[in-house]
Amino acid sequence: MKIKSLSDRVTLNNGISMPWMGLGVFKMIQEKEATNSVLWALEAGYRSIDTASAYGNETDVGKAISESGVKREEIFLTTKVNNGEQRSKRTLNAFNESLDRLNQDYVDLYLIHWPVKEHYNETWKVLEKIYESGRAKSIGVSNFLVHQLKDLLSHTGIIPAVNQIEFHPYLIQPDLMKFCNDKGIRLEAWSPLMQGRILEIPLIKQLAEKYGKNPVQIVLRWDLQHEVITIPKSVHKDRIISNADIFDFEISDEDMKLIDKLDQNTRIGPDPDNFNF
Ligand code: NDP
Repeated sequence: MKIKSLSDRVTLNNGISMPWMGLGVFKMIQEKEATNSVLWALEAGYRSIDTASAYGNETDVGKAISESGVKREEIFLTTKVNNGEQRSKRTLNAFNESLDRLNQDYVDLYLIHWPVKEHYNETWKVLEKIYESGRAKSIGVSNFLVHQLKDLLSHTGIIPAVNQIEFHPYLIQPDLMKFCNDKGIRLEAWSPLMQGRILEIPLIKQLAEKYGKNPVQIVLRWDLQHEVITIPKSVHKDRIISNADIFDFEISDEDMKLIDKLDQNTRIGPDPDNFNF
């Protein structure tokens, strides 16, 4: 698989295509932060934006999309249903409220943000209805482990198109990766940069020197060569641009394996089996 540009897309299990790389907007809550970052990203050629009801910035993201001048159909917009909105009666309202804040008629991908044990199956039924109405072009999940996916699949008619998970050199989860690949569920990496901590990993720094790239570019390229969609976050225009400068080199198989060996099964975010929010 050769991914050659920021506009390259992967076809999901329902035939809809999604950019391999996008901008994440978690923690962009200062005034104009999300709006400016999304505008810079769209200007730099990004065509995928990942937000969530929980991030509190859907309005700013929607504003940037309207102001950008980029055709809506060129943009792939993801948002997510928050944990407290995961009740059959609340989820549809939550979706409508997200659309209102985003100032959109539809989203490209709607995700269950976390696998809230008592509620994810009933929530999924609502997402299926939203999908059938055409107001979410694809539906998927986030933070689902193998056992939660197996449970969901045993209750569902529609297989999630995407599972957005914490994924970086210290957390690869090969079993989850294999399960998702076998079922046609595309993996998407959140916190691909370990929220900046990959900058301190000696091997990544060595490889950056070897390839004439920076550590962030090495790790994002590693995501794509694993065929994992990636959505790094930055509020800096120069970083948004340089983070996407990863299409002019290829990490060798040998070096891919060296990065894989960094795996420690270590999370920087919450454990999907044990969270209380
Ligand atoms: P990332 O791993 O993308 O790291 C973001 C951090 O790295 C920021 O501090 C940013 O700083 C810094 N950074 C970005 N580019 C560079 C660079 N070139 N050089 C140095 N530092 C850099 O973290 P996120 O947790 O934000 O994950 C990405 C996205 O994934 C989120 O924004 C969100 O959309 C999604 N996500 C989803 C979750 C889920 O549960 N589904 C959970 C967490 C995230 P600065 O902004 O100052 O440039």
